[in-house]
Amino acid sequence: MLFYSTNLQSPSLSFAQALLMGQAPDRGLYMPANIPVLSPEEIAGFSTMAYHQIACTVMGRFLQDELPEGVLADLTKDAYDFDVPLEHVTERQYVMRLDQGPTASFKDFAARMMGRLMNFYLQQENRKLLILTATSGDTGSAIAHAFLGLDRIQVVVLFPKDEVTNRQRKQMTTLGKNIRVLALDGKFDDCQALVKQAFADPDLSQLQLSSANSINIGRLIPQMVYYFYAYSRLAAQGEKIVFSVPSGNFGDMMGGMLAMKMGLPVQKFVIAVNGNDEFPAFLKTGRYEKIDPSKNCLSSAMNVGHPSNLARLVALYGGQMDEKGGIHEACDMKLMQQEMWSTSISDTKTQQTMTEAWKNFRLLLEPHGAVGWAGLQEFLKQHPCPGQLCVSLETAHPAKFPEEIERQLGFDPELPESLKGLGEKPEMFEMLETAYPAFKAFLLRTY
Ligand SMILES: *Cc1c(COP(=O)(O)O)cnc(C)c1O
Repeated sequence: MLFYSTNLQSPSLSFAQALLMGQAPDRGLYMPANIPVLSPEEIAGFSTMAYHQIACTVMGRFLQDELPEGVLADLTKDAYDFDVPLEHVTERQYVMRLDQGPTASFKDFAARMMGRLMNFYLQQENRKLLILTATSGDTGSAIAHAFLGLDRIQVVVLFPKDEVTNRQRKQMTTLGKNIRVLALDGKFDDCQALVKQAFADPDLSQLQLSSANSINIGRLIPQMVYYFYAYSRLAAQGEKIVFSVPSGNFGDMMGGMLAMKMGLPVQKFVIAVNGNDEFPAFLKTGRYEKIDPSKNCLSSAMNVGHPSNLARLVALYGGQMDEKGGIHEACDMKLMQQEMWSTSISDTKTQQTMTEAWKNFRLLLEPHGAVGWAGLQEFLKQHPCPGQLCVSLETAHPAKFPEEIERQLGFDPELPESLKGLGEKPEMFEMLETAYPAFKAFLLRTY
């Protein structure tokens, strides 16, 4: 299977090459040249399979031919050793909790698989890599944990110093070893821009840079799997499902869209964003205007004013968008509007949703999951469909956002095992000026 760049100016690559490359040399993002389709019988068969077996089957369609027999089965079994709870809320509405991994966010699903796959290919090719990753809070820790101690990979994490919680910061800064962390006086978009600039800089080519952000195709493929999993556990045969995805950089949503294109029977994708509402506006009008600078909202991991993966979505619908958001070829907006629905949820609404979900259903949501749940409720209000099977994604553990839970609900959520003991560990990170020359100098000096 080949992967092409959304900017169409770089050669197509195999999965392993695209995974190790991260962003394409023309600054585009890799997309599968064709999307394999699973038969209804295969999808029905998932109902008796464990999560890691579904992962092996789904991902295998994209990369089986590049791995020796049995390797993918071993890697998925090793990566997915945690639970994926589907919490019943009311009628046929569920919340899927993607927060049981080692860093308590959904990003563990992709990071753990990516680390294992990269390490496997690097060993085979006897190569090393320097991974640059920008984080709005959760990517950094998920990547850092998944890559910690791998001998062929060094990791640099950049985060906006005032936009992550103490707990999120400590999850990245207490690791050491092959993980270095940089704090920037800026926004997530600034961090992401520095990383992208470094990839495109010929002076750094000897550093063997790669990305673990959702610009890497290796992040998206594992993120298809939990959509199949939820469906396999909840749907009657052939039944259609509505997913609500709290979204920022749109990697999570792209995993879902690829799953649908592989044959998963989806009625609608609800794309719930915070005050950064460039996508709902685009979906309505077909005109795209990024939000610069992005707005600071409670659901901080979704404070993205220009989602990288939008270029992939546009490509999926037959159009072409460059990395700056310029549209060179219009996409099929009609079909996109049939398959997706999107809304922006304010901070006030997010807080209200946290309170009401707890009061009415004893449903504990942190701000990101609350945006997803509020988006779903708005969709159902405007499109009443009694008995519709719906799954809203909860993308982080409530204990990662204790300040907001305490404010809204009046208690401190219990810490999962993975977050205990962070307070005592020493932190290591450097402050860096938010300017490309400073970042470049850091990389050249350190590696
Ligand atoms: C990263 C993140 C999101 C947004 O996911 P995208 O793939 O960037 O859309 C939502 N919630 C949480 C908790 C996150 O960490």
